[in-house]
Amino acid sequence: MTAIYAAVGTAMAGLLPVVAMIPIVVVAYVRGALLTHELMHVRRPERVTWILRMMMLFDTPLGLGYREHQNIHLRHHQRTATATAADPEFFQIEGGSLRAFLAAIAGSEIAAMQWVAARGISPSLRREATVRALCMLGLVAIAPAIFFVYWVTIRLTIGVSNFMFHHVLHYRRGEYGTFPLRLPRPLDAMLRVVLGPSLRAVLCEHDAHHAWSQVKAERLRGLLRSFPAPTPRSKVQR
Ligand SMILES: [Zn+2]
Ligand SMILES: [Zn+2]
Repeated sequence: MTAIYAAVGTAMAGLLPVVAMIPIVVVAYVRGALLTHELMHVRRPERVTWILRMMMLFDTPLGLGYREHQNIHLRHHQRTATATAADPEFFQIEGGSLRAFLAAIAGSEIAAMQWVAARGISPSLRREATVRALCMLGLVAIAPAIFFVYWVTIRLTIGVSNFMFHHVLHYRRGEYGTFPLRLPRPLDAMLRVVLGPSLRAVLCEHDAHHAWSQVKAERLRGLLRSFPAPTPRSKVQR
């Protein structure tokens, strides 16, 4: 997140060309999102820095913070085996690719609306939404054109990332489940360079991640060969 703030800040100060800001934002977001996902499996919201707890990416004021995203993600892990709409990410998993992509593009607001509809709006959510809105308005006032380029970049990056992480990894040929991602070799090599082998594994070995969600990313490759996914029955027995 710090890299994103630095890229936007230096671009707005005229120290970084806007075309250079775009790839920095894309790579920093994808790496940051996957690292935050790792953290969500091991660290409670009270134990992360306030900047991460806010999850303020200047993408929308109507977003959720670390606390809510962690709750949603851990419920996503619990529900996938039952293959039903009880999975809170189902809205961006189900259906045809275009429908899922549009849901992923509007994912931040849809997730926030679902959260508020189910639990109401807490004072902290209201406070965080106000801070996000004020910050975004401030950035628009400082440099509207650069902010617009940033906003389109971050919305598309978040949308495509959500689409990959949910629809592509959990929906194949009308089947709901959890699948590994096997990419063409050049694309896979690019991911290894941009994300590093560990973060790439969370994406590409997603079936292993769901089977053993406490296992660190760098150990996921080949894990299911030695330790197959536990059946629901053996999970209960553990
Ligand atoms: Zn998943
Ligand atoms: Zn996970």
